[in-house]
This record gives sequence, C-alpha cells and structure tokens, in this order.
Amino acid sequence: MSQAVECDLCPHLCRIEPGQAGECRVRVNVNGKLLAVTWGYPVALHVDPVEKKPLFHFLPGAPVFSLATVGCNLHCQGCQNWEISQSSPEDVPAYELPPKQVAATAAREGCPAVAYTYAEPLVFYEYTLDCARACRERGIRNILVSAGYINPAPMKELAKVLDAAILDVKAMSDEIYRRHAGGTLEPVLDTLRIAHDAGVWVEVLNLLVPTLNDDDALVDKLIAFVHDELGADTPLHFTAFHPDYKLRNLPRTPTSTLLNARRRALDAGLHHVYVGNVSGGDGESTWCPHCGELLIERAGYRILADHLSGTGRCPRCQQAIAGVWT
Ligand code: SF4
Repeated sequence: MSQAVECDLCPHLCRIEPGQAGECRVRVNVNGKLLAVTWGYPVALHVDPVEKKPLFHFLPGAPVFSLATVGCNLHCQGCQNWEISQSSPEDVPAYELPPKQVAATAAREGCPAVAYTYAEPLVFYEYTLDCARACRERGIRNILVSAGYINPAPMKELAKVLDAAILDVKAMSDEIYRRHAGGTLEPVLDTLRIAHDAGVWVEVLNLLVPTLNDDDALVDKLIAFVHDELGADTPLHFTAFHPDYKLRNLPRTPTSTLLNARRRALDAGLHHVYVGNVSGGDGESTWCPHCGELLIERAGYRILADHLSGTGRCPRCQQAIAGVWT
C-alpha cells in the first residue's frame, strides 16, 4: 500500500497523501514517491529583454530565454501571474522541453541567459536545477526570478548554478505574508542572504500595493534590510500594482507612492533604486552614485542610451558600478 510522503523543499513541509499534490499543486505523491510532475513541461516560453525581469545591472539589453511551469507555493491575493501560478498541471497546456533542449533553444535564439520566471521556479526545483546545469555546460547564464520561499539547503545547492536573481519581497511583515500570501517572511530573507553570500548577482523587488504594504514604516524596513544585509550597491525596484486576481477592489499604485519610496531609499544610502510598471522619469535609469552622471537611460524595458556596459565604469568619474556588465 502506498504511503504518504513529505516534501522538505519549502517551509510548508507538506505531508502528501497518495495521489495528492502539495500546497504548490505540482509536487505529487505518485505511488509513494514524491514527483515534481511539471519537470520538462513548461507552459510559458518567451524571449524577453533582461530589463523585463526586472534586472537592470546584469547584461543590459540582453535577450533572455524565459520559461515557467505552472504552480507556486505562495498564494498572493494580488498575484499578477495567477493564471499560471495558481493553476494545476492538468489545467494549462504545456510544451515538452527537457533541460538540454532548453539550453539549445536559448543558444539558437542568441540568448546569453535563461530565466526561470513568471510563476515560481522554486516549486519546479529539479527542472530549474537541471536546466541551469545544462545551460552552464553551454556557457549560458542562469537567472532566478522568484519569491524566494524555499528552505536553506536546496537554495544553497541551486545558488551554485545561478548567476543572477531578482527576488521579490512582498512586505517586511510576517503578518502580511501569512494573511495575503500564505507564507512567512523569514525564509524569504534567508534566501536573499544565501544568494548574496554565494556571489549570485541579486536585485530586490517590492510590489507596492495601495493600503496593503505601501506605508513608510514597511518601506523603510525593507530599505534597511537591503542596505545593512545586502549592501548599498544592491539595486532595489519598487513596482506598481495593477488590480488583479483577488485584489481587484484596490486601485493601481500611484506613481507618487513609488517615487516617495525611491526617495526614502536614496536618502537612506542605497545607490540604485528604480521604479517600475509606470513611467518613472529618473527612476527608470541608472545614475552614477559618485558623481550623478547618467549611465543607462531607459524608458520602460527599452534602453535609450548605455554609457556603461563596455567598461562597467562611470565615463565621467571612473567609479566602478556594481553589476555584471559583460
Ligand atoms: S514545494 Fe510544494 S509540496 Fe514541497 S513543501 Fe513546498 S508547497 Fe509543499
């Protein structure tokens, strides 16, 4: 007779009965064995500019082969990708693309990196890991786009094959994580620390949702965490929410909210603070933290001018700018 299995990939630590799936919907007990049933079956495949992840200090302008399977281990009420993140494998038609073909497709498309993105790549962990290893063998770099809700041991293993990560912090509040995402805060912060300590290039994302997580005290806590634990050179992106999924009653995030958060972060000493999903003026571009020179001018995901990537140094004062530029 088949037995229940336990999954220790993420802090939910699901106990899964035969024939059932865990909280993330994609890790299933098949005859007493735990299987990630979306291995090799992405539901979304696109070539995106790296700026769309958003990563602003990693190979600017590079096309990135981006993929996702269904599933997520968080259930954010304002999820902007809920059609795939909150679906079960049987609900969404999938492609068949094993890891070696992922790397080959990225190479054929002229992409120097692959991004594991859109839904939650940590729940299709084995596929992410195998793809990342196959990409490394071909000299293709790996980008994790994630909410970071994973246990430390598997994250340390994955970090060995990652080159960059954009990690989404919902709010510096355990209560908000529990109430609006079905998770907890501290494991996410541990993931940021692990990636940073492993030498992965890390940028941090905070989707500001009106009335939910946009008050100054929460924003200031995140700024302090990034500054104190990841360093002043770590880029921080404040992005705008649009009404979606279970939060259609809330308004879009006003641009002024994002600009206020950006101003607070710059005043606190962070060097690179961006606003996204709105037309954000100075907040879309990269500036030299030393002399104020405009280094990369952007409008949305488009680069209008790049004075930095050749050297990684400010052309005016020669300050080295943190990031991966070649
Ligand atoms: S990864 Fe999925 S199955 Fe495993 S513990 Fe987390 S939610 Fe449960």
